[in-house]
This record gives sequence, structure tokens and C-alpha cells, in this order.
Amino acid sequence: MNREYYGKLIFELSRPGRRAYSLPDNGCPDVVSQLPDVLMRDAAPVLPEVDEPAIVRHYNNMSTNNFGVDTGFYPLGSCTMKYNPKINEEMAALPSMAALHPFQPDSTVQGALEAYYNLQQALSEIGGMSEFTLNPFAGAHGELTGLMVIRAYHRSRGDEKRTKVIVPDSAHGTNPASAAVAGLKVVEVKSLPDGTVDVDALRPLLDDTVAAVMMTNPNTVGIFEHRIPEIAAMVHEAGALMYYDGANLNPMLGVARPGDMGFDVMHINLHKTFSTPHGGGGPGSGPVGVREGLEQFLPNPRVTRNPDGTFSLTHTDTALGSVSATLGNFAVQLRALSYILSLGSEGLMEAGPLATLNANYVKESLRDVYALPVDRVCKHEFVFDGLADKSHGVTTLNVAKRLLDHGYHAPTIYFPLLFHESLMIEPTETESRDTLDEFIAVMRDIAREASENPEVVKTAPHNTPVRRPDDTNAALNPVVTYFDLEK
Ligand SMILES: *Cc1c(COP(=O)(O)O)cnc(C)c1O
Repeated sequence: MNREYYGKLIFELSRPGRRAYSLPDNGCPDVVSQLPDVLMRDAAPVLPEVDEPAIVRHYNNMSTNNFGVDTGFYPLGSCTMKYNPKINEEMAALPSMAALHPFQPDSTVQGALEAYYNLQQALSEIGGMSEFTLNPFAGAHGELTGLMVIRAYHRSRGDEKRTKVIVPDSAHGTNPASAAVAGLKVVEVKSLPDGTVDVDALRPLLDDTVAAVMMTNPNTVGIFEHRIPEIAAMVHEAGALMYYDGANLNPMLGVARPGDMGFDVMHINLHKTFSTPHGGGGPGSGPVGVREGLEQFLPNPRVTRNPDGTFSLTHTDTALGSVSATLGNFAVQLRALSYILSLGSEGLMEAGPLATLNANYVKESLRDVYALPVDRVCKHEFVFDGLADKSHGVTTLNVAKRLLDHGYHAPTIYFPLLFHESLMIEPTETESRDTLDEFIAVMRDIAREASENPEVVKTAPHNTPVRRPDDTNAALNPVVTYFDLEK
């Protein structure tokens, strides 16, 4: 990219009076000057003034600075960055769907309500749940909604003492955060060395102050929690409910159902498992499913099917309230429905085994040069604890930065917190053997470089537009506006 455009904001390209358009006089009377003074702004808005070539080059150059699943391999553990089929984009962009207004009368949006209802039904079947709401906007938002359902359930029974949520120490950070936002206290339960929940440590924590136990399966180390039915029986015996963080549903699709294992409430990340684009903060969708007997607590509005086959938006007093404007992120829902319908149940059932095969293939191909703290068959992802040979002082951060030089997005690093040098790799089912072999070769090259020429790895990346931003300073002193608004 040339220097004229590189790294510049569009405001820096602005020159007074430049325009990318010229419009003829529209012949309308000047109404603006007739508006009362109170409605007028004090100063003209600060807008960039650029010509058409500048605007086109600016945005095209910016787009090539992005990395996405459409650019290259994206092994970001915990995030399920699978390929997003383009047919889903076409479905979501259909004018009959994209041009709807959220407040149109139900009778004019029957097709959209049916799409919502059908996805809700498909997810209920996949999760082994009774009903889903698609309204939450993300996984974390789904967790909050699910915990609010659980709280509403306990309250409806007059059981007000239940204020604690038990969360494993391997949990995603959103679990304790959602519990806190829901006004519940977080109690941590330890994991065993193999990454699964320590059932003996859990047992004494269960009493009549516990509202729920949140679990992820496969857990964040990529290991299947095989003792869930036993845990569920203990938790239910204590009067609490089981919450399933479904962000890791991908390897279980069509193979095992959280509802059958004893989970009462769950969320699904449509933007992960159901292949809708995400990253950089959005868009997302975190539908929440509940077992029979909890449906009435789901947020308003719900989409219900009437006896005559039509669909309505319904509001009830037993609902926990609303968690989103109308029906959530509708375009993401449409992409997920399109993905489910195009794969069909047979295709969906192939996704998990292939994701599992790919993850184990990468793990086994690298285990002699990277440290493998949990040595078991993994599901869709696995965690290395940095390089096997740490004597040259090359860290997981250095390895991740060096991968950028080779055109790969880095894996997730320093999560889960169970290991000091976590490097969490999730290849997903949509990557070919060739892609995985090339990635394995690069990871092996980096491991060799780390002992033969460690400085190159420690000072990476060397060929990216931005090298090592000061993460700490960016977090502590973020500059989020270009203009000094005080001036
Ligand atoms: C991604 C993820 C979440 C949170 O989902 P968001 O949509 O990012 O809010 C929760 N738990 C696990 C295990 C995850 O991977």
C-alpha cells in the first residue's frame, strides 16, 4: 500500500471543499432556514471532505488490512472460526427479509416469523431442549439471559436464598462476568489435571444457596466432560439447575445433546457453531434454550405458532422481561437457518467428527515440539503449554507474533488460565488437509527457529503493517476518538 493512504484516517485525507458527488438543484423550497433556532446545531458537523478516488482507495486499502476466514487459516481456539458459506449471505440479504421493519404488523411478516420459529425448533432438536429464544445478541448475553431464567424459576417457587453460581476454574471469562451482572455470587470449582471438573471438590459446594452450576462441554481444554450425568444428578438433588455454555457445541452436533445429559438451560453461539461471520466485536447471536417447565420464563417477545398455522409475537407476564429490541439479530439468525437447511441433519452430523479429526491431527503432528499438558484425545480444540523447549526464553506470545509473519491469524493465547503459556488451537472442520499440513510445517519451523535463532521469534512480527502495539498502554489509556472533543 502506498504512503498516501497507509495508516491514515479518512479525516487525514480531507481537504476543504473536496466532494465525491455533485447534485443538481432539487427544486425544493429551503426548509432548513425555517427551522426554529433551538433545533439548529451551533456548528457544522465535522465531516471528511474527499473526492471519489480518495474514498474508494481509502476503504479498499483498509479492507486489505483485515484478516478473516476468507483471507486465510484462522485457528483461534474457543472461537470456532469456520468458513461462512456465501449462500447464507445471499439469504440474509434477500430484500424480502433485509427490508423488513421491526414494528410491521405480524400479518405482514409471516415469513420472517416462520423463519424465526423454524430456527427455534431446529435448535431445540439439536440441543435436546423444549424451546429456544433467539433474542440475545451474543454468547455472553445468552448466559445473562439464561441465568435470569434460572433466577426467575427459583423466585417463582419462593426460593429466594439461591444467590450463588458455581463456575469451573477453566471457564470462559464471560461465565463469571454474566453471573455477576445477573446479581449472583460466583463460586469457583477446581479442575483436575486432565482439565475436567473435580467432582469431589464440587460436592461440598452444593447447598440450598446455589442457583446454578455453569459448565462447558467439551471444556475449554477441548476435553469431553464425561461425568455430566452424575454431576447433574448431584446438582438437581441440591435443588439447583445446570447451565450449559454451548459455545463449544460444534464437536457434539447431532452426536450428543446437552438436554439428554441433564442440562436445564443452555445457550448456543450461532456466530460460532452455525457458521455466521463474527470477529472484531460482532455481529453475534446467543439463543437460549430451556427444558420443559421453564419456557414461561423466556424473554418477551416469543414467536408462537397458532392452531391455523399462522405465527404471532406473544408477550407474557411470567417472562423475565425483554433482553433485546424485538427479536434479536435477525440477519444472523437467517444465516444460521440457511446453514442448517443447506447441510441437513446428515451434513450437520459430519461437522463435529471432522472438526475433532482435524484438531487431533494438528495436535499429534506438533506434540514433540510443543508442550502438551493434557495428553488425551481432544474434541474440536486443544491447548499447548508453549514450546516444549523453553530454554531459549521464547514465549507463547512470541510464537503467536511469528505466525503473523507467515500470514496466519494467531491461535488464542494465555487462555485457559490453567496453564502459564496456553496456546489454544481450533482448526474447525472446514480446513483441508493441505491447509493443516502447511500450518503444521510453519509451527515446526517456528519451533526450530526458537532454538536456532531465538531473537527472530522474540522480535516478531517483522512483515506486518503494525508490529508490536503497546497492549497495556492501549488498555489503560485508550484513545478512542480522533478529535479532541474538549477543543
Ligand atoms: C465465545 C465464548 C463465550 C462467549 O460468547 P460471545 O458471543 O463472545 O459473548 C462463552 N464461552 C465460551 C467457551 C466461548 O468460547
